[in-house]
Amino acid sequence: MSHSVVDLRSDTVSQPTAQMRARMATAVVGDDVYGEDPTVNELETRTASIFGKEAGVFVPSGTMGNLLAIMVHCHRRGTEALVGDLSHIFLYEQGGASHLAGVQLATLKNAQDGTFSLEELRRRIRHEDQHEPITSMVVVENTHNICGGKVVPLAFLDELAALVRKPGVGTGSARIALHMDGARVFNAAAALGVSVERICRDFDSVSICFSKGLSAPVGSVLVGSKEFIAEARRLRKALGGGMRQVGILAVAGLVALDEVVPLLGKDHERTKKIAKAIFEIQSPNITVELDTVQSNILLVEITQPKLEASEFASRLGTVEPEELAAGVTDKNGSGIVVKASARDWAFARLVLYNQIDDEKVELAIRKLKYVIGQYDKRWPRA
Ligand SMILES: *Cc1c(COP(=O)(O)O)cnc(C)c1O
Repeated sequence: MSHSVVDLRSDTVSQPTAQMRARMATAVVGDDVYGEDPTVNELETRTASIFGKEAGVFVPSGTMGNLLAIMVHCHRRGTEALVGDLSHIFLYEQGGASHLAGVQLATLKNAQDGTFSLEELRRRIRHEDQHEPITSMVVVENTHNICGGKVVPLAFLDELAALVRKPGVGTGSARIALHMDGARVFNAAAALGVSVERICRDFDSVSICFSKGLSAPVGSVLVGSKEFIAEARRLRKALGGGMRQVGILAVAGLVALDEVVPLLGKDHERTKKIAKAIFEIQSPNITVELDTVQSNILLVEITQPKLEASEFASRLGTVEPEELAAGVTDKNGSGIVVKASARDWAFARLVLYNQIDDEKVELAIRKLKYVIGQYDKRWPRA
């Protein structure tokens, strides 16, 4: 018997929409290394304009977008980039800044809301002492993945820009570039009800993923000034990211801008709905902090010390005969599989995207309630 599967491991598992597939079949293409793919050019120009930047470059992945930003902003030898200690760049990009770009990453402690202390940043900026590397770049991740899809507050971004642009701090030869790892910056905009242009106003560059909640099969766009993008485009070739008739992929990004971006708020509502359902169980073993749910990522906290997040995730992914008997099924009487990931020991992570509709949300809630209820029978409130 085949089960109903609700895959909430990540928004990277989102599937291209029907419209994306249709448009891919007929996309007008050319050799993009020659700059002759009109569809890629359109995606680059349009994305840059949405972000209020001069230019953009299409890259295969967010990792490459971030790496290129580091390579261009930290082109001088002996420089460092300051990043959050829970950032994707620091944790999940293989340290490419060091092993591919020769740039040192230095970390600022991330707060729960995805920000870091601006006072710590001020003290950590280095550009005078011969012993020290030169701070050339500061990165903000928005929304912040590991912090649970947190939307970085605009006030923080404004204060950060004011600090970095203060005369004598990061100006002249010691200019400090601001880069946003905006893999999910459209989610931040949807959550705040402001434009991505406003969010990224003071940033020199932004890397945007089309293959997460935006549902495209592949691709990111890096945006910034004309000179910055020209240099990034050159280095993209050195990294093996020069692609040919990729309008076939870029067109999915164009469809995402038209068709998926306007729906991101819906993903956020559904994420809150699941959060609320878990919260209302008032389980002594598994809980969520409702007011920390801001976008499409939900962290579920395991408060039972005898249970690990990975065990909880694997239980959600299996169907036991008793639960079928208890009616935890889809409308055809088949079992429900919820795929979740474990962020660490104590937190499971659920991520929503375009294909997770109201029906899938109901199935996920049914399964979560049952599994959590079973744990509560085993470990009742003391
Ligand atoms: C996914 C992601 C990236 C880039 O990932 P790729 O898999 O290389 O496209 C960068 N930053 C954040 C926060 C991400 O979630």
